[in-house]
Amino acid sequence: MPTFSKHEIESLALMPLADIMGIARRIKLVNRNTSFSLCTITNARSGKCTEDCAFCAQSARHASRSPEYGLKPVDQLVREASNAQKTGATRFSLVTSGRGIESMRQAEEIAERIAAIREQTGISVCASLGIARCEHLEILKQAGLSRYHHNLETSRDFFPSICTTHTFDQRVNTIRAARKAGLEVCAGGLIGLGESREQRLSLGRTLAELAVDSVPVNILVPIKGTPLEGPPRISIPEILRTIAIFRILMPSIPIRLAGGRDSILKDFQGMAFNAGADAMLIGGYLTVRGRAVEEDLAMVEEIRKIWSEECGGGLFSEE
Ligand code: SF4
Repeated sequence: MPTFSKHEIESLALMPLADIMGIARRIKLVNRNTSFSLCTITNARSGKCTEDCAFCAQSARHASRSPEYGLKPVDQLVREASNAQKTGATRFSLVTSGRGIESMRQAEEIAERIAAIREQTGISVCASLGIARCEHLEILKQAGLSRYHHNLETSRDFFPSICTTHTFDQRVNTIRAARKAGLEVCAGGLIGLGESREQRLSLGRTLAELAVDSVPVNILVPIKGTPLEGPPRISIPEILRTIAIFRILMPSIPIRLAGGRDSILKDFQGMAFNAGADAMLIGGYLTVRGRAVEEDLAMVEEIRKIWSEECGGGLFSEE
C-alpha cells in the first residue's frame, strides 16, 4: 500500500475536484475492479447512552429523542439478519448504544446472538459495540464474528470538541484489540462536524496507518436536540473530495457510504461512487431511515455497469 507524506496529501487535496475524483476512480477500478459491498445494520440496543458524543441522538445527555430499548432477543435478530440477506446484503452488523462492552456477561449475551445468526443464516456478522477489551472480543470471534466496527469519528485533535467522556486513544486501542483478537476491522468516521479539511485528512491518514479493512464514511445528519443540530456544516464538493482522498490513501479496501448518503448527498450520491466509494449501507441507519432498498440495488447495478465498461468488462462481487 503506498504511503503519502503529510505534504503529498495536502497537495492532493488542493487539486481541482474533477481531477482528484478521476484519479480516485481509476485507483478504485485498478485495485478493486467492479466490486461493490452492501451491508445492513440493526440497532440491537438503543438509547440511554452515558457518553456525550455531540452528534448522537442516543446520548442521554442531549435533548434529542431516540427509541430506548434493551438488547433485542435472539430470534428477532436472526429474523432481521435473514431479511437483510434476502435483500442482497452480505454483512449484517449488530450495533449497540453505550460506552462499550462492560463485562464478560455482556460479551456472552452478544456472542449468543452472533452464533445464532451465523448458524441459522450464514451471513457474515459484524458488530459495533463501543470500547472493548481483547478478551471480550475474543469471545465474539469464537462465536463467529468476522469484523468489528469502531469509528474513530474524527481527527485526534478535533476529537475532544465532539466527545469528552472518552478519548481518541481509547478508540484506537479498541481497534488494536480487535486486531489482536483476530477480527477484521471496519473503522471510519463522521465528516461535517465542523472539522477542517486538514482534520479530515488527518483522519484519513490515521485510518490508513491502522490498516483497517473497511472504511465507512458518515456525513453528519444534524439531529434536533443534539449540540450539532442546525444546517449541514459541509458542502457536497468537500464531501466528494474527502471520499476521493480516502480512496487514494486506501486503494484496496471498501470505502463505504453510510449515514448521510441519502439525506445530505441526495441527488449527488451517484457522484460519490465516481469519487472512489464502492460500498454502502442499505436499509436505513441507526436513528435515520434510509431510502427503499430496491432503489439502492437498482443504482448499484447501473454503477457497476458503468465501471464494467471502463474496466473492459467483467463484474466482480465481494464478500
Ligand atoms: S455514538 Fe455511541 S458512545 Fe457516543 S453517544 Fe452515541 S451511542 Fe453513545
